Amino acid sequence: MKSIIRHDNWKSFMFIVVCLLVFFIPFNGTSAEGKQDKSDRDWMTNDEYIQIMNDIVDSSSGRVEFDVAGHSSQGTEIMSARVGDGDQVLLINSSIHGNEKSGVEALVEIFDYLGTSDDSYAQSIRDELTIVAVPRLNVDGMEIPQRQNIFPWDEVVSTYPDLEGAEPAWNYSEKNQGFDINRDFNADLDYEVDPEDLPGNTLLPGFYITKEAQLLRDLYVDLQDEFDGVEAFVDLHHMGTPKLNKDGEEVTMAVDYPPLGNDPDKYADYPELDQEKSKRYALAAGLGAKEFSEDEEKGISQYIHFEERDFPGQARSAFALNGSATVLFEMPGQQPEYGYDQKLVDRVENGLWGIVTRMADGSIDDLNSDDFFEELPRYWTDNISDIRDVLERFTEDNQFDDTSNARLLDNQLSALETFESQENKEKMVKHLKGVKVLLKNQKEEDLIDSEAYNRLDSDIEMLIERWEEK
Ligand SMILES: [Zn+2]
Repeated sequence: MKSIIRHDNWKSFMFIVVCLLVFFIPFNGTSAEGKQDKSDRDWMTNDEYIQIMNDIVDSSSGRVEFDVAGHSSQGTEIMSARVGDGDQVLLINSSIHGNEKSGVEALVEIFDYLGTSDDSYAQSIRDELTIVAVPRLNVDGMEIPQRQNIFPWDEVVSTYPDLEGAEPAWNYSEKNQGFDINRDFNADLDYEVDPEDLPGNTLLPGFYITKEAQLLRDLYVDLQDEFDGVEAFVDLHHMGTPKLNKDGEEVTMAVDYPPLGNDPDKYADYPELDQEKSKRYALAAGLGAKEFSEDEEKGISQYIHFEERDFPGQARSAFALNGSATVLFEMPGQQPEYGYDQKLVDRVENGLWGIVTRMADGSIDDLNSDDFFEELPRYWTDNISDIRDVLERFTEDNQFDDTSNARLLDNQLSALETFESQENKEKMVKHLKGVKVLLKNQKEEDLIDSEAYNRLDSDIEMLIERWEEK
C-alpha cells in the first residue's frame, strides 16, 4: 500500500503522503508485506525471490512474465521478468556482482506494483513502457556471496578448447574461481573469445566468456530486434561508503553515465553512442531518488567518473555504444558486511521510478544533460575545483590549527586552476608538487589534522600522477 500511495498521481504524492499515510499503514496487503521491519529480515534468498515473483505472477492477471532466461556458468537457472506492453523498452540488470543485493529487492517491489495495481499511474507505465529485468544475474556469486561468478579456469578451457595454454583473462580471480562478469562485455555483440586477445585489461573490451554475460547480451539483442533498439539499460550495484566533498555527508546513492573516456574519435565506429542521453537518464534517476522520498536525500550524488575513465568491457559501456542510454546505480556498502536496509532499497526503487516516470511521459528528453553535474554533488577529486571543495569542508570542520594555513593552500590551488584550464602540464606538475610539500610541512608542524592531510595529500598525489601521464 505504501508504494501505491507513492505512485498514484506522483506529482502530488507529497501531499498524499502527508494526508493519507497514517490511515493506510495498517492495511499493508502487498505480497511483499513485512519489509518495513528492518531488523526482522535479511536480503532474500534465491528461493524466496522465486517464490515471491511467482506469487506476483499469480496475482498479476497475466501482466507479469517470469521465466528462465538461461543458465549460469554452473548451470543454475537465471530468471528474467517482464511487465508492460509499451513501445519503449527499459532493460534493468541487478547483482552482476554477487555481493551487491539491493537491486533485486527494489525490482520485486516494482514488479509487484506494476503487476498488481489498477491505478492510472501503473496503467500509464504499462502502456508506454516494456520493462524487462534480470534481477539476479550472478546467481551463484550471490549465494557465497562474492563479487565474481563461479567458473574455474579448467572449466573455461574445457568449454573453449582453443584457450588451452592461454593466460587467464585479467578479470578472472584465481582465489574466487570466477570472473568479474561486469568486465566481460564487448560492444561487438557478435564477439567470440580469441586466445590472442587474452589476458586483456580494464581499458580493453571484454570477451563474453561467462554464460551470465552471454545471457544478458542475448537478451539485449533479442530486445533490440523486437523493439528496433533498446531505449535504456540500468545496472544496479553497490560500492564503498564515501562522503561528499563539500559537506562531508554520507553518500546514500550514486549514479553515473558510461565511462568511455574523453577522446571523441575513439568510438567513431559506434555513431549511436549518445553520452548526453545517458546523462539525462542518470539525472532522472537522481531526481527520482529525491522526489519520491519522504526525506531530504542530501547524499544522492554523481558516481566517481574521472574525465579519462574508459571501461569498454562493462555492460553499460557495451550497450551504450550500441545506442542505449545507460545508467549505473551504486549503493553504499556491500554484502555480507551490510545487512538489509529498507531506506536503501527504497532509494533504488525511487531512482528507477525517476527514470520510468519520465520515460513514460516523455519528459526525460527535456532534461538538460549538464544539470547532471549541477544537481548532483561529488565525492571524489577529478580536478582542482574538487580539491578546493574538500579543503573548504576541512577548514569549516576546524581541521586546520589556523585558517590562515588553509588559506595558504587554497591560494596555491586557486592559482593552479589557471594552469589547469590552459592544460599546462609542466606547470601543473611543478606546482602540484609544491602544494604537496607545503601540505607536508603543515603536517610536520602539526598544523593540520590527519584526516584532512591524508585526503588532500592522496588527492594531490593522484592529480600529479594523472598530469604526468597527459
Ligand atoms: Zn558492482
